[in-house]
Amino acid sequence: MDGTDLKVEKLLKQIAADFKQTGHLTGCSALKQDVANALRHVPRHEFVPLSSKDCAYINAPLPIGKGQTISQPFIVALMTQLLNLNPASKVLEIGTGCGYQTAVLAALVKTVYSIEIIPELARKSKERLASLGVQNVKSQCSDGQLGWPEYAPFDAIMVTAAAAAIPSALIEQLNERGKMVIPVSCAPDREELMLIRKDEIGRLHTQPIIPVRFVPLTGGHR
Ligand code: SAH
Repeated sequence: MDGTDLKVEKLLKQIAADFKQTGHLTGCSALKQDVANALRHVPRHEFVPLSSKDCAYINAPLPIGKGQTISQPFIVALMTQLLNLNPASKVLEIGTGCGYQTAVLAALVKTVYSIEIIPELARKSKERLASLGVQNVKSQCSDGQLGWPEYAPFDAIMVTAAAAAIPSALIEQLNERGKMVIPVSCAPDREELMLIRKDEIGRLHTQPIIPVRFVPLTGGHR
C-alpha cells in the first residue's frame, strides 16, 4: 500500500463510521462493498485544485472554483448508496462540478449522463474524466433542471445542488421503480436530502433522509 492507499482506507473507515452514526436517519447503517470499491477506484486528489491536494482524502467538502464545491466524501457515498444501483442502471447526474461524483457513479454502472450549467466546469470535468480514462460518461453543458429528454427515462437521478422544489422535468424523466436523490431547501441555508421513488404505477414516494448543505441549483428559466 502506498501513502494514497492508506489515506483512502482511513477515509473509508471514517465514512463507515458516519454511516453507522447516521443509520437511524438514513436507513443505511453500513457502507456497501460496491460503493466502497468505487470510492477506492476514483483518485479524489485528481479532482481537487492543486492548493487542496493535501486535503483530498479528508472527509470534508472542498472548493473547486467558480464558487462551487466538491461534496464531502460521506455525502458522495450516501447519495450513491441510496440510489441502489446495479451495473445495468442508467443514471442522470445534475451538477457535474469537478466530475468526482460522476466518476464514482461511472465505476458502478454502464453509462452516466451528467449535466453541468457552468461552461468552464463542464469543459474541465470532461477533459479530466477523459484523461483518467473514464469512458462511460456522456456529458453536456446545459440547465439540468430540464433533464436530458433525449436519453430518458433514467433508472436513477442524482442532483448535487440544492433545489427550491423538485424540478418537474426530472420527475417525468425518472423511470418506474427508479430513484432520485436531491437536496431540497426547507428554510434559508437549510436543506434536506430527499429520496424519491417512483413505483411501478408512477406514484411518487418521498422520504426525507438527512439535513445537508449544498450550493444552489441555478437555472430553471424557460
Ligand atoms: N457533484 C459535484 C458537486 C458540484 S457542486 C462534484 O462532485 O464536484 C454542484 C454543481 O451543480 C456546481 O458545479 C454547479 O455549477 C452545478 N449546477 C447548479 N445548478 C445547475 C443546473 N441547473 N444544471 C446543471 N448544473 C448545475
